[in-house]
Amino acid sequence: MPEHRPGTPPAFVTLESFLWWDFRDSGDWEQWAKKWGLASSDRAARRAYEKALVLQGALRQLELANNGALPDAKAIRTVNELIDELEIRPKVSTSGGVALASCGRSVAGPIAALLIMVLDAMTAGVWHRFKLCRDPSCSASFYDASKSATKIWCSMGVCGSRSKMRRLRQRRKSAAVVP
Ligand SMILES: [Zn+2]
Repeated sequence: MPEHRPGTPPAFVTLESFLWWDFRDSGDWEQWAKKWGLASSDRAARRAYEKALVLQGALRQLELANNGALPDAKAIRTVNELIDELEIRPKVSTSGGVALASCGRSVAGPIAALLIMVLDAMTAGVWHRFKLCRDPSCSASFYDASKSATKIWCSMGVCGSRSKMRRLRQRRKSAAVVP
């Protein structure tokens, strides 16, 4: 299951990567945040590790809801609490444009930046395309760039056919018990 796929808007490839990665430890997260230019220093990245996991966990719940699950009230609350805590607010620029910015302390830099990407994706009407693969043995995050945005597996060839096989086996099994 690839980290990036064709069709993901360039503005959201960092977010695509964040949702896809399973961070092994704080060092792994630190490297990731630096690679994507989200951390001004090692210390800033390290201090944000716990929050990164909280944000990633909540967003993955929202991604499940984008793929047919019921919305998770706790995950939504977590995201809203982070928005409050990091003081993310709209700011008007001299050109008359408006953009979200964090007015909180710089410690949470990478988390605020990721959260703003999520809010931008929602505003741009593409957040519903971020999904978790419905195959329980995969559960990888993916961006659904299909025209209809109705993909349910990250890969039709791997997870899609595995699910088809499973259904076929179940059908055969239940057909076998019918007298
Ligand atoms: Zn999958």
